[in-house]
Amino acid sequence: MARDYYGLLGVGKNATDQELKRAYRKLARELHPDVNPDEAAQARFKEVSTAYEVLTDPEKRRIVDLGGDPLENGGGGAGFSGAGFGGLGDVFEAFFGGMSGQGGGGARKPRGRVQPGADSLIRTRLSLAECAVGVTKHLTVDTAILCDICHGAGTNGNSKPVRCETCDGAGEVQSVQRSFLGQVLTSRPCPTCRGAGETIPDPCHKCGGDGRVRARREIAAPIPAGVANGMRVRLAAQGEVGPGGGHAGDLYVEVVEQPHDTFVRDGDDLHCTVRVPMVDAALGTTVVVDTILDGPTELTINPGTQPGEVIQLRGHGMPRLRSGARGDLLAHLDIVVPTKLDGKQTDMLRKFKGSRDKDRAEVMSAQSEHNSGLFARLRASFSGR
Ligand SMILES: [Zn+2]
Ligand SMILES: [Zn+2]
Repeated sequence: MARDYYGLLGVGKNATDQELKRAYRKLARELHPDVNPDEAAQARFKEVSTAYEVLTDPEKRRIVDLGGDPLENGGGGAGFSGAGFGGLGDVFEAFFGGMSGQGGGGARKPRGRVQPGADSLIRTRLSLAECAVGVTKHLTVDTAILCDICHGAGTNGNSKPVRCETCDGAGEVQSVQRSFLGQVLTSRPCPTCRGAGETIPDPCHKCGGDGRVRARREIAAPIPAGVANGMRVRLAAQGEVGPGGGHAGDLYVEVVEQPHDTFVRDGDDLHCTVRVPMVDAALGTTVVVDTILDGPTELTINPGTQPGEVIQLRGHGMPRLRSGARGDLLAHLDIVVPTKLDGKQTDMLRKFKGSRDKDRAEVMSAQSEHNSGLFARLRASFSGR
């Protein structure tokens, strides 16, 4: 079966040479081994390069348009015959010629000594209350900072960097390798100057020429109210200073929320469990909950409260991040039956039972109204709430 050379480049059958070149350049920028070391990308780059090579050769393109495959018949089966190699100049011209900010002819500008710095990450433990009100955390961070002796220049005193002798200032060294395409010119960063194109013969004594040093420093990280476990607060330009004193990356402060003694958090809602003695559940009572933001708050237990009932205190949960809204506090009631009764209490309960002659233990219908609460809770627990 003939290969779909047009499909490989993503162009139509009547694509002009200009369109072929544009399509190839676009793909080469994604797939060229210098840009994309991924093996699958390299394999695709070869296919795409082959397609470009074939379609820009009028003779081969004619064979493709007739439904044939110019690389299947003849040419020794090795892909390109020696004669086909002439087109390789175009391949590289198309690729390198179109790279922004770079010269033609395969020569690239050195990337320079000054590089942007990396982002860094620090974790900080916050109590639930701190998450609720927001807090300014004083943290010790360990990052690269600008060298205060050379201010990023990397040089000692008034000395100057010099052009790298290994790469003659290009920042990269090139070698010719044999591959599917025939001979392929590959380039890699210069091992001497690591791509900078220049070296520092007399480096700064403090930073050794890197323009930056590692240091611990204190920062104040403002954590907004409403953050939750795993959230990251970004502090712009507080990360690592780059090589040569390059612009610092960002610092991310990740929140590690500590478990609370009373409350379990679910998004903006808080859950707690309130144990209610059986008699209080029957007669009704009040209980004080020390809420996370509103201080001691009274919770009314109505007479006849059943085990598992949930009392919702609207707006007493966590604040929503960057919003005035608040979640709810949900108090789950656990009705406690006394386990040890003295003789007098037993007598009283017997008397009470005597006055309630209709009360007796029985197996319920699954559909009964009294069971609906239980099953609603079971269903809710399956749905994860
Ligand atoms: Zn220095
Ligand atoms: Zn070099």
